[in-house]
Amino acid sequence: MSAAPLSIAVIGAGIGGLSAAVALHRAGFAVDVYEQAPELTEVGGGINMGPNAIRVLRSYGLAAALDRDGVRPQSTHQRRWQDGRTLQQAPLNPRCEELYGAPHMTFHRRDLLAAIATGFPAEHIHLNHRLAGFADQGDRVAAWFDNGARISVDVLVGADGIHSIVRTQLFGEAAPDFAGCVAYRGLVPMDRVAGLGVADGNQSWLGPGGHLVHYPVSGKRLLNFVGWTEHDTWNREDWTDRATIERALAAFADWHPQIRHIIAAADTCFIWALFDRDPLPRWSVGRVTLLGDACHPMYPFMGQGAAQAIEDGAALAACLLAGGDDPAAALHRYEQWRLPRVSRLQAMSRANKIRFHMPDGPQQQARDAEWARATDRSPDALRWLYEHDPAALAEPAAA
Ligand SMILES: Cc1cc2nc3c(=O)[nH]c(=O)nc-3n(C[C@H](O)[C@H](O)[C@H](O)COP(=O)(O)OP(=O)(O)OC[C@H]3O[C@@H](n4cnc5c(N)ncnc54)[C@H](O)[C@@H]3O)c2cc1C
Repeated sequence: MSAAPLSIAVIGAGIGGLSAAVALHRAGFAVDVYEQAPELTEVGGGINMGPNAIRVLRSYGLAAALDRDGVRPQSTHQRRWQDGRTLQQAPLNPRCEELYGAPHMTFHRRDLLAAIATGFPAEHIHLNHRLAGFADQGDRVAAWFDNGARISVDVLVGADGIHSIVRTQLFGEAAPDFAGCVAYRGLVPMDRVAGLGVADGNQSWLGPGGHLVHYPVSGKRLLNFVGWTEHDTWNREDWTDRATIERALAAFADWHPQIRHIIAAADTCFIWALFDRDPLPRWSVGRVTLLGDACHPMYPFMGQGAAQAIEDGAALAACLLAGGDDPAAALHRYEQWRLPRVSRLQAMSRANKIRFHMPDGPQQQARDAEWARATDRSPDALRWLYEHDPAALAEPAAA
């Protein structure tokens, strides 16, 4: 890198933006993060972090911070909605560490964001800064915010989520696609569900037109649940819309008693609608690029949206380190390196919505028989996903 490090503005301090800021800061760049919210916080409940993402975060020196409240579930267990019969079951930990050098972990989102934040100087996070627009001037990028602040940097990274202003300015306005699915989610104190034996593993319950996932978070003090059901229309996509417990119970009316016990044990239940977008053909124009949900929002049915955002940050830092003399070329290389992998995961996540929500009948029976033969959720079966090193840049494939 030249004597004066590149100055980089990251727009958005979600899991993607903040972890990219850590990667870029560690690579020696002069990084500032601009977040519209008045505080650093993640709404929503729990999140799964596959070993591909945990390995990246550990490489930033965050292992101890992650271990503070992160949970290492022993297994993943797919069950049938009505009678609880096992469809698939596979070990997660310590198997992931043995195979991929990092555990599979579950977190409360707030705990994960706090752990990542320990890797970045707080004085370079600018809260209450909502990006309003930017202009690529060839050798610099100017950007301005709703609060009147203006900046000029070498590179601007839009990590500003599914409604990204940066993406809109680069590629035009386009509404995200509603998945026809809403989630009821909640957090339950573990002592209220102590008799269910749910503190040590991830469980997914699959039924006609829906599925429900639960796993421990926050040092096993809480059980996180997210139950998906299909809906025709939706006109909001806010994490924090409240639903009544009664409404969530009605959505899972005939399901296994364990499901209904967990939902009934929550104090509050939120409802959230699911959106994604088709893969974009490109993410970068000149000295401006995108990462995370800003460029590849995906259904959470591979548990990889945030994990891929974390990988993006590692790849972006590696590309700028290797080719910082020509930032536009480095950003182009970054998107070329990342696009095939995240597009594949976007497609797999969509396919899982259909596989997870099959009505009872011949197709569902064929799916169950296939899963009885081969466990596709096992870490052993996901080598291509979990062993990938996003910072080990391979040469771009010949055109
Ligand atoms: C129910 C559910 C479960 C999921 N489970 C998993 C899982 O288990 N594992 C997994 O890996 N992924 C999961 N995901 C996906 C994951 O949550 C997202 O992919 C991830 O949070 C995206 O992070 P991000 O930083 O790209 O975007 P966001 O989290 O949306 O962050 C964007 C940030 O930018 C800020 N911002 C927006 N506009 C501006 C602006 N103009 N100026 C300044 N700041 C701005 C926002 O305030 C926000 O802080 C799940 C998603 C859902 C909905």
